[in-house]
Amino acid sequence: GVEQALTADTAPGGTADGRPVQLLANIGTAEDAERVAAGAVEGVGLFRTEVLFLERATAPGEEDQAAVYARALQALGGRKVVVRTLDAGADKPLAFATQPDEENPALGVRGYRLVRSHPELLETQLAALGRAQSHAEVAPWVMAPMIATAAEARDFAARARAHGIAKVGVMIEVPAAALRAGEILAEVDFVSLGTNDLAQYAMATDRLRGELADLLDPWQPAVLDLVDATARAGVQAHKPVGVCGESASDPVLALVLVGLGVTSLSMSAGAVPAVRFALRHHTAAQCHTMAAAALAAESAVAARAAVVGLLVPEV
Ligand code: PEP
Ligand code: MG
Repeated sequence: GVEQALTADTAPGGTADGRPVQLLANIGTAEDAERVAAGAVEGVGLFRTEVLFLERATAPGEEDQAAVYARALQALGGRKVVVRTLDAGADKPLAFATQPDEENPALGVRGYRLVRSHPELLETQLAALGRAQSHAEVAPWVMAPMIATAAEARDFAARARAHGIAKVGVMIEVPAAALRAGEILAEVDFVSLGTNDLAQYAMATDRLRGELADLLDPWQPAVLDLVDATARAGVQAHKPVGVCGESASDPVLALVLVGLGVTSLSMSAGAVPAVRFALRHHTAAQCHTMAAAALAAESAVAARAAVVGLLVPEV
């Protein structure tokens, strides 16, 4: 059936007229890397390394971490792997690093901000990544979460390069960073949009509050405006702009993201076939028209309806 035809399709991602769009998987462990490597993905677009740190009394050491990263890189056998440095705090507390009593943890010391109080956590992780890289077929791309300013991006890039990391990037998931993506891209080699947090912060809506899902919707035109600003900065800087939030796994929204100028999409591996299929049936120009229609809408519901009306009949 359709399901089988979709999963049998293993071609690299791209539009009907051949614009490449890398289709990547989100993972949290080396075991995940081995599992997704068996499927038709072009690599890993988000390795959430905090899984290594959670539910421990102390941080894992450099050697333990290096072994995990090396195993993940080896599993992907030369395919692209984007590793995200520790994103603790807020919904991911750590016994040995984060503050349990913060009044607004989503706005507090989380993600990259942990470097202020615990620089050794980041330094050890970067050293482990540098060590894993020296044994790997392909160097990992390494990015930091929750970057808000160009100064933070510059600080991260300096630390990562000091450990020999060749491809350095940051996540764009704070609206301030999206609005200033050009300045941030001047400091790093690539960026990746985290649309889960970007929507949370743009819409002032807790990402864990299910009853507010209508506000948190990545189809919200204000969220798409921030994606647009980031993608435009990427095109201007000739640097890759990926998306690794849940929005990348919606095949219709994926067309809009590509139309806005996004160059890779990372998602749970199971979502890749449907996204590949949708892209394959639309040209880059059609994606661009869809993106313009979504940006012109005045609500998330209207944006989605406008784009669905533009889908080619086979999809
Ligand atoms: C995001 O915020 O969109 C993202 C990919 O990161 P996480 O979901 O791990 O916060
Ligand atoms: Mg995030």
